[in-house]
Amino acid sequence: MASGARKLELQLLEACKRAYERRLTFGTSGNASVRLGEEILVTPSGCCLGDLTRADIVKVGLSGKKLAGRRQPTRELAMHLELYRARPDIHAILHTHPPHTMAFALLGKAIPPLTPELKLRVGKVVTVKYRPPGSKELASEVATKLRGLAAVLEKHGLVTVGQTPLDALYVAEAVEEAARAAFLTRVLSLRC
Ligand SMILES: [Zn+2]
Repeated sequence: MASGARKLELQLLEACKRAYERRLTFGTSGNASVRLGEEILVTPSGCCLGDLTRADIVKVGLSGKKLAGRRQPTRELAMHLELYRARPDIHAILHTHPPHTMAFALLGKAIPPLTPELKLRVGKVVTVKYRPPGSKELASEVATKLRGLAAVLEKHGLVTVGQTPLDALYVAEAVEEAARAAFLTRVLSLRC
């Protein structure tokens, strides 16, 4: 693997580890990928993002053909592929289930842009209508709606994108922080 590709693979693993440690995702939920030309490196199905090593990463062509790896790719592979096809400008995708963002996702409510980080760094966070996890319908809905950096998946979680896996992680953290701030300010305003 060329050194640039190796670096991005290591950054993918680092972003996954941080996403798990910072409690943006739990158990074996969540997935991530990075694009290298006509191929992507993607996390496997059924593994904890906090425990991944290079041996767990799966290489897949943009057509969906598995090219290398001992594991099966995430069941959200179609969502990653559709998004890369629709967005030549992005090179990394992270799907997480952050708890405060999840509360908004479960209620089908938009996250208000209260924090400067969300306004300046992320911009508009779109909400994607519920479609079953892993389905082609979810993949095409996300690819159609996600024109910025973040989308809340109704009753499901969060998808963030960027130039690198760490960029996508920072966007996820900014969205979760905004959701947390919205939650806390609402609770506080009820009590004051
Ligand atoms: Zn999910």
